[in-house]
Amino acid sequence: MGLLDKHLGYRAPLDGIRAVGADPSAVRFDAVLSPTEGMLDGRKVILLGTNNYLGLTFDPECIEASAAAVREWGTGTTGSRFANGTFSGHTALENALAGFYGRKHAMVFTTGYQANLGGISALVGRGDHLILDADSHASIYDAAKLSGAEVIRFRHNDPDDLAKRLRRLGDAPGGRLIVVEGIYSMIGDVAPLKEFAAVKREMGGYLLVDEAHSMGVLGDKGRGLAEAAGVEADVDFIVGTFSKSLGAVGGFLVSDEDNFDLLRIVSRPYMFTASLPPAVIASTLKALQRLEDDRDLRVRLSANADRLYEGLRDMGFVVGPHASPITAVVMPDQATAVMMWNALLQNGVYLNLAVPPATPDNQALLRSSVSAAHTPAQIDEVLAVFGRLGQEFGLLKHSLRASA
Ligand code: PMP
Repeated sequence: MGLLDKHLGYRAPLDGIRAVGADPSAVRFDAVLSPTEGMLDGRKVILLGTNNYLGLTFDPECIEASAAAVREWGTGTTGSRFANGTFSGHTALENALAGFYGRKHAMVFTTGYQANLGGISALVGRGDHLILDADSHASIYDAAKLSGAEVIRFRHNDPDDLAKRLRRLGDAPGGRLIVVEGIYSMIGDVAPLKEFAAVKREMGGYLLVDEAHSMGVLGDKGRGLAEAAGVEADVDFIVGTFSKSLGAVGGFLVSDEDNFDLLRIVSRPYMFTASLPPAVIASTLKALQRLEDDRDLRVRLSANADRLYEGLRDMGFVVGPHASPITAVVMPDQATAVMMWNALLQNGVYLNLAVPPATPDNQALLRSSVSAAHTPAQIDEVLAVFGRLGQEFGLLKHSLRASA
């Protein structure tokens, strides 16, 4: 009996997917030409599955800042933030993030995953209550395990169910942290944050919003859903990532909470890992400035999101509840999803195949995401390919079991 035998349940499904064509878990780009185009097996494909919402990965100012930083500071910090891994750039980025959100404190982590892991696990622990949307990202669930807090799940995007769970808790001792996301990563649906904030106001507890997919996307200033919904004052903690709108890697936590500095000596995923390299810090700092200065990026992103969503919906594909930079096309079953994903790839469109258990309600999805950098002509090309294949596969009728 091998150590990996416990995972053998995944063998047949994975082999089944591989038998149909390309292996989605092993797609390897020969080259990335721009935020919206790459080379796969010698062929050019349109990138429609990145989280590069503002298209900043090839922004000349970000690249220049990154190149200058690597020359000046070297390739890595070779240490954790706690021990020799804090350079002036890390502090400058934390100050910039705190300023952007109008909060007193910010803390930068090496990935967005670790921002949830390190933030949440340090905010709640044994004896506390962590109240999670059922469709929370894996990093939030993993944070729950690390924290040791009691986990209470409420129905996805359902403020009434949240209120019911809190009512049931009554006056049980221990802290309460409610965690929701701005835009959900698989379907692209937005949390009813105004309603969640009202529940929190009425019933108490702290509220953390993971704005991973909504920073740079929602809100007049691009701060995310809390800004767009007008409830920033009710949100106690914001988590975000540098790997999506900011085009790099890393994550952050911001708050006005007293004693925030103690997190730096109790958060294990912050302390026991190497800090971000100076090149990443520098490009992220510049990308944040680009996000703040260039609102056209958000306007273009939103127009592209509408164009793709409405195009797919009007052709008769089953899509999520509303337009968003993430549009999931619901497939009737996994086998069809795998075939369609391969056919799209063969026709020059790369997007994400999302299958259970990673999807809400165990749906088989083709998850696409647009960027401000896509041209309308690229979106139209994608729609034309979808239209042809949708006809061929008889896909223009199935109904979405919305996770809302
Ligand atoms: N939170 C959410 C909601 C996410 O979707 C993701 C990544 N997909 C993360 C956190 C983790 O971010 P990162 O990939 O930057 O580590």
